[in-house]
Amino acid sequence: METSIEGAVADTGGSAAPVDPPVAAAPQPTPAATTAAATVVATTAAATATTAVAERAADADPAATPQRAAAPPVSLSPSRAGDFMQCPLLYRFRVIDKLPEKPTEAATRGTLVHAVLERLFDAPAAERTAPRAKALIPGQWDRLRESRPEVVELFADDPEGERLARWLGEAERLVERWFTLEDPSRLEPAERELFVEAELDSGLRLRGIIDRVDVAPTGEVRIVDYKTGKAPRPEYSEGALFQMKFYALVVWRLKKVVPRRLQLVYLGSGDVLTYDPVPADLERVERKLLALWEAIRLATETGDWRPRPTKLCGWCDHQAHCPEFGGTPPPYPLPVRAAGPGSAAQGRMGPD
Ligand code: SF4
Repeated sequence: METSIEGAVADTGGSAAPVDPPVAAAPQPTPAATTAAATVVATTAAATATTAVAERAADADPAATPQRAAAPPVSLSPSRAGDFMQCPLLYRFRVIDKLPEKPTEAATRGTLVHAVLERLFDAPAAERTAPRAKALIPGQWDRLRESRPEVVELFADDPEGERLARWLGEAERLVERWFTLEDPSRLEPAERELFVEAELDSGLRLRGIIDRVDVAPTGEVRIVDYKTGKAPRPEYSEGALFQMKFYALVVWRLKKVVPRRLQLVYLGSGDVLTYDPVPADLERVERKLLALWEAIRLATETGDWRPRPTKLCGWCDHQAHCPEFGGTPPPYPLPVRAAGPGSAAQGRMGPD
């Protein structure tokens, strides 16, 4: 099933949509299109897939972040921007204090499924089948356990392996569902797990990892992100698109190309959300991010990080340190100055 939002153009993975050409029959790109494609790809010529996967794990899942010394934030990613919008204190715990978090089954399964989808494109187009993709799961699970030994704890109390088997079975179902949404034999991604980073005129550095970049022979760019959860209800779609517009802004600022399409592939529910951005969308996101960064900068200087309790607190690993739950934050590890009036803006920021 596909859901279109805000002017989105219907597109199934294997259709003849302008950014989804058949692999074999693709005409040669024009010189201008070649340039557009190459510039996006070249962003991370030096960033290996391994690095990108590790950075993805660290950025998307603080449980994957090795503990480092406290330091002021220097850049913003969609995940951490989302943290601040959800709860400034959560942002502090993750970015400033770098408090450890336990891996979760859902997040770890997401990392595993992403790795499988990425690796499948190593195979020739005709061999990118669901059985082949499912066959990659055990090996990628082994790699994940090697690179992040803490995930082994997830199944430490499962000596018979029953829960692990169910968990791997769910990963298989997510991988299988992808084939009902997109046809990887008709795709030849320009990039996978693309690490991007751009500095805005203000000095704010934006960074992130894009799951997949497709470039059409015409030079049109499509940014694709896989989600192993379910698609949000329409009233929350703006929040889901925030991450994609963030990436589109980075690509635009880096390469002067506004991506033609943003595509979210929800493996949990079998939905595809697409959005075709225009420069005004991305300018709006840039203004939003600048305001967000200013609030983060102020909180960093003053040490005034406010908790913002919501029902999402149920998933927060830091209730023991949160005043809303009777906890006490650790001593603030950075120098502080007296709080000014601006810090009261915390907790009222949303993706729109
Ligand atoms: S428990 Fe809730 S209010 Fe407290 S830090 Fe976590 S998300 Fe914020």
